[in-house]
Amino acid sequence: MCIVFIGSLTLQFFLPMIKPGGMARTLFVQAVLNIEMFLCMSFPYTQAKGFSFDLRAIPMILGPLYGGPVTSATMLTLFLTYRIFIGGPQTMKGLVIGISLVGFSLLMSRYFTDAPRAKKVVLAAAPMVLLLSGLDILLWHALEDVHGRILILVAFDFINLILLTATILGMEYVAENFKLSQEINRTEKLHVVGELAASIAHEIRNPLTVTRGFLQLAIQSHRVPPDEKDYLATAVDELDRAHGIINDYLSLARPSTDESTSIDLDELVRHVVDTLSPYAHLHNVKVSLHVSSRVCVPGDSKKLTQLFVNVIKNAVEAMPAGGLVTIRTQCSKSRGTVSIRDTGIGMSNEELKRLGNPFYSTKANGTGLGLMASYQICRSLGGKIEVSSSPGKGTEFTVYLPLTKCP
Ligand code: ADP
Ligand code: MG
Repeated sequence: MCIVFIGSLTLQFFLPMIKPGGMARTLFVQAVLNIEMFLCMSFPYTQAKGFSFDLRAIPMILGPLYGGPVTSATMLTLFLTYRIFIGGPQTMKGLVIGISLVGFSLLMSRYFTDAPRAKKVVLAAAPMVLLLSGLDILLWHALEDVHGRILILVAFDFINLILLTATILGMEYVAENFKLSQEINRTEKLHVVGELAASIAHEIRNPLTVTRGFLQLAIQSHRVPPDEKDYLATAVDELDRAHGIINDYLSLARPSTDESTSIDLDELVRHVVDTLSPYAHLHNVKVSLHVSSRVCVPGDSKKLTQLFVNVIKNAVEAMPAGGLVTIRTQCSKSRGTVSIRDTGIGMSNEELKRLGNPFYSTKANGTGLGLMASYQICRSLGGKIEVSSSPGKGTEFTVYLPLTKCP
């Protein structure tokens, strides 16, 4: 019990800090659970005609669930080798049980990763219950202590199930807390940047307004020749553009108090794609848009446009040699989804972790503010953004937004 306890604690403590999907995570899960299984098998509680009572089933279920096929394979190899080495009259049964247990858990692992907490417990308990019922039948006849056997078996089943459930609940709880603390960290950083942006933008806006006023006067003056007025008009346009950018920055700082209206997501995304099509063309990128039936989300159309412009622009920029951006809108029971997938340079786990942090950019002339704004806008609308990426292959941004009734 101690072994399982220490193993579970180690996993609970360190696992949430390792990014899912990476090699480091697989290796870590493998190491901890393999050692746990090895120790469990080495120090069984009692023996009955070659049967040993130990909690090896717990790491053997957790391994496939949290570590996937690779962990299952190493675990099985270690298990088979060690079990044959231990030997005894029940070796054959032991081997068959072990292989079935890992195999069944691996089947469950396909549904495990994205499942809610309660479902995870059920998915892990299923192979355990099956194993325990099988073992109970086998042991019923094998146990020498005829009077105490009910007690032994019930205690064995109980401890196995309780420890398995506790480990999973603990791991999920720690993982959720870890995510939350990261989120708080990020929000704090955003707050600081927002305040800075607001104060600087204010200072810049005033001189801009004054300059624009004088330029306007010059345009109306009779003493300025007409062809020079064109230059002045261009200067005014550029000032307006700068003004627009500053306003965007200010919107980062301002808490969103805007009235939210019902927005047709498909129409909005289509509009963004149209707006960005010259930009995509310039980068030799083709954009393919697949819209579902009508999806409406609550929000402010300017902000939502900014959100998608930032994400789609990044997708285009991620493909220096050109390529394809696939955008898909979908509608599920409670939320609208927009996925933006590119076939570009992709990102490593380290880079993924830094996504959305202020001023994080890998581009020569990047600001590192685009995604930060997108994340903030999405959060303020009650949605979330998920990113999956593999270096050299491409990236997929999925934006989830709550649904509302279409007008
Ligand atoms: P910027 O575009 O100014 O660099 P962003 O906040 O928009 O700032 O993006 C931050 C960084 O995230 C980018 O510099 C890039 O390294 C990375 N990134 C964002 N989207 C993608 C993508 N689709 N593919 C690869 N890297 C991306
Ligand atoms: Mg960008």
